[in-house]
Amino acid sequence: LIKQVVKKFSTIFIYQHLTVEFKDLDKEILTDEKWFSFVLEQVLSNALKYTKTGGIKIFSRDIDNLDAHQEIFSRNGIEIVIRDTGVGIKSEDLPRVFEKGYTGYNGRIDKKASGLGLYMCKGVCDKLGHKIRIESEVGRGTDVIITVLREKISASDVKRY
Ligand code: ATP
Repeated sequence: LIKQVVKKFSTIFIYQHLTVEFKDLDKEILTDEKWFSFVLEQVLSNALKYTKTGGIKIFSRDIDNLDAHQEIFSRNGIEIVIRDTGVGIKSEDLPRVFEKGYTGYNGRIDKKASGLGLYMCKGVCDKLGHKIRIESEVGRGTDVIITVLREKISASDVKRY
């Protein structure tokens, strides 16, 4: 699914000379295909908008910050990371990027930015039971991290979920 979504952006990758890399994406997760693709499209379009050199890497990993997640996620969840090597987000902008209409410092680069993309992603992730967060550093790039449940979770956890 992730590769299909990335494929839609292939001309932009080629045109901007950006690389794309996938790692550990063979896991099955509990999600809604259409809405998960919507979130990925928003996140990827941002990554491409704010990355001028290098590229994008998409990979999964075990949850790395247990404190930040509910117990159920720590047992059954994985993180899907969309990492870019773009301009990054200033630490003072970071807490506000999911706000409706917030375009931040980077928004000035692209005057057409509406500041709705991440706001909608957050809303969709909440509905799907996923979590979305961002880690970023100016000059290094940005990680958008989506925490999802694996497809096969225990029956008792399904009930609680
Ligand atoms: P649009 O929704 O029209 O694409 P937008 O990109 O400004 O507009 P969001 O997707 O909500 O809106 O992003 C909010 C802000 O977060 C952006 O204006 C930008 O400052 C910052 N941002 C988001 N993703 C990245 C990224 N990958 N790299 C750097 N900055 C980012």
